[in-house]
Amino acid sequence: MTETGPIFKENTLSRKTGSWRDHELKQKPRYLRESDTISTCMVACPIHQDIREWLLALKNNDINEAAKIILRHNPLASSVSLVCPSFCERGCKYLRECFDEPIAINASEKFLGNWIISGNYSPNLVKISSDRKIAVVGSGPAGLTCAYVLRNKGYAVTIFEKMPIPGGLLRFGIPEDHLPKEIVAKETDLIQKAGVELKCGTEINESNFGELKKGFHAIFLAPGFSEGKKLDIPGAELVGVVTALDFLKKANLGEIGNLNGKTIIVIGAGNTAMDSARTAKKLGAARVIVAYRRKKENMKAFGNEIGETEKAGVQFNFEMTPLRIVRNIPDGLLAEFQNNDLKIIFACDFVIMAVGQQKSPFFEKLLKEKTIEQLEKEGIFIGGDLLSGPKTVAHAIGTGNEGAEKIVAYLERREYRRGKIRTIVRRKNINLSYFEPAPRTAEIQVESRRCFSCGLCRECENCLNFCPEPVVKKTGDPEKPYVIDYNYCKGCGICAKECPRGVIVMEEEKELKYESK
Ligand SMILES: Cc1cc2nc3c(=O)[nH]c(=O)nc-3n(C[C@H](O)[C@H](O)[C@H](O)COP(=O)(O)OP(=O)(O)OC[C@H]3O[C@@H](n4cnc5c(N)ncnc54)[C@H](O)[C@@H]3O)c2cc1C
Ligand code: SF4
Ligand code: SF4
Repeated sequence: MTETGPIFKENTLSRKTGSWRDHELKQKPRYLRESDTISTCMVACPIHQDIREWLLALKNNDINEAAKIILRHNPLASSVSLVCPSFCERGCKYLRECFDEPIAINASEKFLGNWIISGNYSPNLVKISSDRKIAVVGSGPAGLTCAYVLRNKGYAVTIFEKMPIPGGLLRFGIPEDHLPKEIVAKETDLIQKAGVELKCGTEINESNFGELKKGFHAIFLAPGFSEGKKLDIPGAELVGVVTALDFLKKANLGEIGNLNGKTIIVIGAGNTAMDSARTAKKLGAARVIVAYRRKKENMKAFGNEIGETEKAGVQFNFEMTPLRIVRNIPDGLLAEFQNNDLKIIFACDFVIMAVGQQKSPFFEKLLKEKTIEQLEKEGIFIGGDLLSGPKTVAHAIGTGNEGAEKIVAYLERREYRRGKIRTIVRRKNINLSYFEPAPRTAEIQVESRRCFSCGLCRECENCLNFCPEPVVKKTGDPEKPYVIDYNYCKGCGICAKECPRGVIVMEEEKELKYESK
């Protein structure tokens, strides 16, 4: 029998297989660093928070680190987690559909938010390192976030708020049953402890805006869409006819007392109408009727809001077009509606109009006189609902972050650029054979282990172990754990296929580069 030996007797390093890429494949792998990629959950969250990183810290049982990560962009984690429709989980669902369920990201945010405000975390008071001063108008989620982010970057920031306490619609719009005010108070306290100065009871208007411009190097305007709208029908100006925003504000300030035995008509069908109807019920109203001009399927309110409102005992009347409101003698009101061919009249005590919000006249005028670009050139930046129109708390926090970035660029006299373009880690980039489907659980640390850590290298060494050539080298640098020696890479793509988390991409190679022997 003849003995067989290796085909090549030389050391594998003697053959620069990198030259083989020339022939057919003309593609080579590249490691994507953390900052090059973005997960679908982060894309979907309007704050674009570092969700995968806090989940990774939780996976490593490092709650303090997870809290630090969330606080980079979001000082209101507890509040927003209670009211956000969890856009992030829709992003994760898109990735994990047909595998298992999306990660309970909202619950992890709630867990961290509560952990932070329960005294486990002491905010770091950053030294003021700049002589530039920034004013923020409005202490809603947009203003609070912008101020907090800028203060952590070493700027002195003062918030001017017209109400006696901070929080904006978190405090005076969203009802207690969805967002306990104690939580908002704890988060706004934390923002103040981080060094943000807050001047409540100070309204910024035509008469003092000039002074503000003189006293500060940049201004962030986040006064929201703070005025409720009324329908233009006869009787809208009567005592007892109020906007939903005014009603909720008064209810949150404890100024309404009880509504025992009263009948309340709520006109509208959005989330604010649902909040108003439930609040009226909570205050003791005997009968609350939501009157909407279209059909149930046309309602703008979220399904869960409608369900909760129905459960609270609120009556819904559809296809009711409001015609007029008149005073009922000796007291109360008569609200008249057109319902197909019928005229329906309700005797009631109050009519709440939940038909939209608008800018206050001062900010309306300001934005009519100048474009956003012109204002930004003067150092005036816009955020929150004033920028986007009525949206959500998460969107407002997102604009607070962006506003802070723009202000820093303005003060440093450089052009503002929205972060760099990142590669979205999609389903096709994840190697599912390395993961086991598992059910969603309320146990946050267990739940975090289900996360794929999309786009994050976990140093599993698959690329190193599966590569058939001496190509992948360990560096010992956690920022850049592996490098590729293209002198030996044939471009076969095994490393990219075997990476569980989409950290390696195969790219077309225009010009081949290797050292020839
Ligand atoms: C009833 C209701 C329920 C809602 N429920 C939800 C929900 O469940 N989930 C969700 O995500 N979103 C919800 N939203 C939307 C969300 O609250 C807003 O999108 C968000 O609060 C906007 O944030 P902001 O910072 O732009 O403004 P706001 O929260 O409106 O804060 C603006 C602040 O500026 C102050 N201000 C105004 N003018 C001046 C001035 N001239 N000078 C000084 N201060 C001024 C105001 O007093 C206020 O404190 C709800 C909205 C309403 C009305
Ligand atoms: S703010 Fe909303 S979308 Fe963003 S992580 Fe929290 S729950 Fe998800
Ligand atoms: S698996 Fe993890 S990183 Fe990927 S989308 Fe879901 S939560 Fe985000």
